[in-house]
Amino acid sequence: MRMCGSVYARDPSRRSWSLCREGSKAVLPPVTILWPCPMSVGAYVQAGREIEVPRPDCPSCAAPMWWWSGYHRGVRQEGRCYRVFVPRARCRACRVSHALLPAFALVGRLDVVESVGAVIEEVASGGAGVRPPAERLGVPHTTARGWWRRFWQRAERLAVAFAALAVELGGEVVTPGRDLKAWVLSAMAAAWAAAVALPGWAALGGWRFVSVVSGGRLVSTNTDPLSIVVGKRRFMPPVP
Ligand SMILES: [Zn+2]
Repeated sequence: MRMCGSVYARDPSRRSWSLCREGSKAVLPPVTILWPCPMSVGAYVQAGREIEVPRPDCPSCAAPMWWWSGYHRGVRQEGRCYRVFVPRARCRACRVSHALLPAFALVGRLDVVESVGAVIEEVASGGAGVRPPAERLGVPHTTARGWWRRFWQRAERLAVAFAALAVELGGEVVTPGRDLKAWVLSAMAAAWAAAVALPGWAALGGWRFVSVVSGGRLVSTNTDPLSIVVGKRRFMPPVP
């Protein structure tokens, strides 16, 4: 992203105009959009505020949005912490700003999705529990256990949603087996295999794909709605 639109974000008068305009009216809460960033964390960090992010349309009204400053947050990969810039875009019509989170990050989680995915995959495949992958990835085992618990609470919903997505994308049909762990992993793998055929997804890797289409909420609470978006297509996941 060349911050061409950010001239508005940095212009204090523009900002106060907007704040005034919002004044007494209710403002919708900010939303996080995961964008399919194929870059390594290191390359992303190096790009800083000059990071090139495709300008999104508003997820609510489809109007083009303006860059609207941004903020920094932490990301941990293999035990190392990075400070990354997260640009914001704003829809004037809806008066909502949206954070553009790169695909390697998860909403409300410090660790990259590849770490979370590695723990999920290892535990679900019947490995030795969360400790070995947590140690290898430089993550406290209590954190890794928290990921697994959250994931497991939502496993059935995720399995149903990703199995349906795989079919929607023209991929393999994954039928529920007796083993939920195997089902959810194979549903995600089937959706990913189908997505690789679509333009732009192959460079991402499976876990970034899973994160992007589920809005960075792979290990959210079970009460958090599960929304599946692939590019501009929104899929209503069936309820198990
Ligand atoms: Zn809008």
